[in-house]
Amino acid sequence: NQPLNFKQELTCVFGQPVAENPTQCMMEAAYNDCGLEWRYLTIEVAPDNLEQAVGGLRAMGFRGANLTIPHKVAVIQHLDGISDAAAMMGAVNCIVRKGDQLVGENTDGKGFVQSLKELTDPTGKKIVMFGAGGAARAIGVETALAGAAEITIVNRSAERGEALVQLLSEKTSVPVSFIQWDGDYTLAEDVDVVINATSIGLYPDVDAVFPLDFSSLKSNMIVSDVIPNPPQTHLLREAAKAGCPTLDGLGMLVNQGVIGFQLWTGVDPDPKLMRAALEDVFGV
Ligand code: NDP
Repeated sequence: NQPLNFKQELTCVFGQPVAENPTQCMMEAAYNDCGLEWRYLTIEVAPDNLEQAVGGLRAMGFRGANLTIPHKVAVIQHLDGISDAAAMMGAVNCIVRKGDQLVGENTDGKGFVQSLKELTDPTGKKIVMFGAGGAARAIGVETALAGAAEITIVNRSAERGEALVQLLSEKTSVPVSFIQWDGDYTLAEDVDVVINATSIGLYPDVDAVFPLDFSSLKSNMIVSDVIPNPPQTHLLREAAKAGCPTLDGLGMLVNQGVIGFQLWTGVDPDPKLMRAALEDVFGV
């Protein structure tokens, strides 16, 4: 006979705004499926309260946490340590409790690469990536480490685009270049993988037009988008029309969640069940 236990292990996400973040539904579905008495809370934390909120995690014995906009960089100063990958990217999206230490990880890029591998191995591929913010930094580092042949960064602001080129040149061996995004971008014929790592198309801006010359898409190009909500973006709809294999932002969301789940619990969750929980929410 097991003794009665009314105390659950706690995990959460901190963000602002955070209400539309769907991570809870896939995590709690997976806890339930694995028979774990764990909870995942969606918590609104303002930037000025982040230090106290991290203190709250310590005091209440949280086992782990995710960070989303705008906390991924600011949280680092409040942690006991960070992984090599998180240090390289300068951002943390996942906190793992190790004994009494809170350690920062970055699972965004690894989640993206895992999702991409369902369609192709990034090794030797020519990649065009739109965006140079936090998601793009994580994806750029991990696709470079996974052996991409070449990465072209296309970004609206030159400042962030050039900073990402510098990061990838210094920390990885991938050949990398920057093109400033001005009007509809035309893809070169030999591109293998196209990645949207900008926030174009994110709810509530669901009808946002993606600035690309869609006639330059070839049916052998793999087209992926990081936008989880809604999963079908303008870019992905046009790519499907051109006959390209596509990957939506739920793939990255699920796979970064799988890695976080393993780090927190030591248990392997079922990615299909986690994706199904999200598809249910988004009516896919
Ligand atoms: P950041 O704010 O750090 O970066 C935003 C990027 O988008 C910048 O490169 C910015 O360009 C570009 N951008 C925004 N609006 C436009 C526009 N109208 N035209 C051209 N470029 C634009 O955000 P993050 O990198 O943290 O997040 C980006 C997206 O990734 C978000 O939508 C987020 O939801 C998603 N994401 C998804 C995850 C998943 O698991 N599926 C995980 C993490 C993030 P500029 O430099 O010119 O401002």
